[in-house]
Amino acid sequence: MKNLVIFGAPGSGKGTQSDLLVEKYGFDHISTGDVLRAQIKAGTDLGKTAKQYIDQGQLIPDALMVDILAATYDALEKKVGVIFDGFPRTIPQAEALKEMLSKRGTGVAAMLELEVPDDMLMERLINRGKTSGRADDNAETIQKRLAVYHNQTAPLRDWYEAEGIRHAVPGFGSIEDINAVLRAVIDTL
Ligand code: ATP
Ligand code: MG
Repeated sequence: MKNLVIFGAPGSGKGTQSDLLVEKYGFDHISTGDVLRAQIKAGTDLGKTAKQYIDQGQLIPDALMVDILAATYDALEKKVGVIFDGFPRTIPQAEALKEMLSKRGTGVAAMLELEVPDDMLMERLINRGKTSGRADDNAETIQKRLAVYHNQTAPLRDWYEAEGIRHAVPGFGSIEDINAVLRAVIDTL
């Protein structure tokens, strides 16, 4: 089992790169954003709660998010390993993930960070908003999400550095070139 955390700001390309890695290696993939959007679409109580935070560009509270993550993880087959995309987003979430995996006899093998400058993120997300239909892909909410990223999520770079498993790669250039760099890292694990 090689579990990976794919990490980066909103719009850094976590979902795109995860899909290619799933295709190549057969990982299971947990995108917490996708899980929450599915709940919203289905109109569940969880979806209703999540929508209130997402539309404001805020994070869902840690305790709720950790429960969702554990339930999603336990339902997977886990043949090769799991890519965590969009989780953790806070230090308490990273600690919870470590504990959850350790209780299940495993851990995170690598944190793969996609580094993209803020002006590029803004441009990508504005463009995505034209077709994504996502209520949070508008200029005002994107600004809030980037601020939340810098304040609450970016401290995880040092956290994973201290764990000795952070691998940062440039998140711009062609999708295939970025993926080749990620594969090169994964092949050393
Ligand atoms: P990307 O474009 O790289 O996929 P993103 O930030 O645009 O990243 P998602 O990962 O899809 O989008 O997340 C969308 C929203 O869902 C977040 O802004 C947040 O409100 C909520 N969310 C997702 N994951 C978490 C989490 N781990 N903790 C708290 N809230 C979360
Ligand atoms: Mg995504």
